[in-house]
Amino acid sequence: ARKFLVGGNWKMNGSVKLAETIVNALNQGKWSPNVEVVIAPPFPYLQLVRNTLRKDVGVSAQNCYTESKGAYTGEVSTEMLKDLSIGWVILGHSERRMIFGESDEFVGKKVHAAVKAGLSVIACVGEQDAEREAGQTTAVVFRQIKAIADQLAPADWANVVIAYEPVWAIGTGKVATPQQAQEVHNELRGWLAKNVSQEVADATRILYGGSVSAKSAPDLQQEQDIDGFLVGGASLKDQEFLQIISSRQ
Ligand code: 13P
Repeated sequence: ARKFLVGGNWKMNGSVKLAETIVNALNQGKWSPNVEVVIAPPFPYLQLVRNTLRKDVGVSAQNCYTESKGAYTGEVSTEMLKDLSIGWVILGHSERRMIFGESDEFVGKKVHAAVKAGLSVIACVGEQDAEREAGQTTAVVFRQIKAIADQLAPADWANVVIAYEPVWAIGTGKVATPQQAQEVHNELRGWLAKNVSQEVADATRILYGGSVSAKSAPDLQQEQDIDGFLVGGASLKDQEFLQIISSRQ
């Protein structure tokens, strides 16, 4: 069985004060043992959060580079994350792809580097509004997942989680319907079955992200191929984030 995973992606938000508030809330929070939780604060807060947060909650970076060290001004390596006991990294978020120009191939290389370094990865895929309108949703997410799969051996998938985040649903309040999300999740799982293996397809968690809230989470989590959430805005609100985590029993 795939363990339900709820990730909180803070994006470029927060402060020492907010980090302390969220850590305190999670440290006191209670939820089902069937749910795994990971939070992804910005780089400057990773160490503070890792050192104060309960150990059964994972901490994730929001990006990293492919090289382990060197003259790459402004970048952060997988080795540095491991040095701080950060177990996870989000890669290929649509904001990285669209605002910072990360290509499918670059994202695939980063996923490979992170897995090889021993990190667990939340690898994001998702279509833009115009692509959905043009009937290109499946083609786009298949192209993105293929670029990741091209860099991985089947065994590497044990440390990869996919996040399906339709760009039109991110930060817009326009959440995908459970049926819309389920349809794409099912297609992604089918892609894995056909192109990697049935075992990997059965074991790999596929999260949904895009305007997940305490209100939308209960229905979304019921879908068969939705194995968790990647929460943006609502992960900055400690009580709502706890409610989302508790939407799954
Ligand atoms: P929102 O939940 O704010 O729509 O963001 C989703 C997201 O991009 C998570 O990575």
